[in-house]
Amino acid sequence: VLADCRGFVFDLDGCVWQRDTLNPGAAETLTALHRAGRGVAFLTNNSRMRSRDVRDKLQRLGLPWVEHTLTPLEILGRVISERFGRSRVLVIGAQELIDVVAEAGHEIVGVPDFRKATVVAVGNDFDLSYERLGAASRAAAAGAALVTPNVDTRFPIENGDFLPGCGAIVAAVVAAAGVSPIVVGKPEPPLFRIALDRLGLAARDVAMVGDSVESDMAGGRRAGMRTVLYAPEGEPPPGAADAVVSSFAQLARLAGVR
Ligand SMILES: [Mg+2]
Repeated sequence: VLADCRGFVFDLDGCVWQRDTLNPGAAETLTALHRAGRGVAFLTNNSRMRSRDVRDKLQRLGLPWVEHTLTPLEILGRVISERFGRSRVLVIGAQELIDVVAEAGHEIVGVPDFRKATVVAVGNDFDLSYERLGAASRAAAAGAALVTPNVDTRFPIENGDFLPGCGAIVAAVVAAAGVSPIVVGKPEPPLFRIALDRLGLAARDVAMVGDSVESDMAGGRRAGMRTVLYAPEGEPPPGAADAVVSSFAQLARLAGVR
């Protein structure tokens, strides 16, 4: 299914890397694909990094040729503008999330002023507190739109371990406020479309490679791409993807670059 694939879009957390370490064989396979003239792009749901931060990190980890990287923060401010116009936004999340919202022309509302918010943006918040969760929940319950980079409940780290993901915090706000979130990142289509644009390839010629059935495989399928589930351990559910690989070496063989 992959020998004639002209491009590959890779998920990062839990697929290409675990926190600050590339997964075994990732550097070799990614570089081999690039040298063989296949398009390579990276699409993460990370709510704490901007596209350029991801590109810089991949280059630092030994992939100096990396060019196309995308995170939900790339479009989050614009999504708010398109749906709600210039807004007063309560941001619960990383400084990078605050920055992209402010740069898109929105007014940032402080936590004590949560009642003034017309939009609540919730990302993974390593400084989450009951006060911040309360502000987000009460603003959303009062009618502010809830916007989030992703609803992934786990953030995979080394050795199969995990941290609570952005989606776990969003789930708490959703439960308390009784609202539904607007999801900017995977599995929603916009970032997949931008990735295909950057590669200059048609969806049918490109494979989405990732470790999440819910965000990577479902989103890739909806975008019309082929899907490859990276599952180094454990049995994936049947029909989860067009192909399943347990290593980057196996992916290289299927793609015909080794
Ligand atoms: Mg992942």
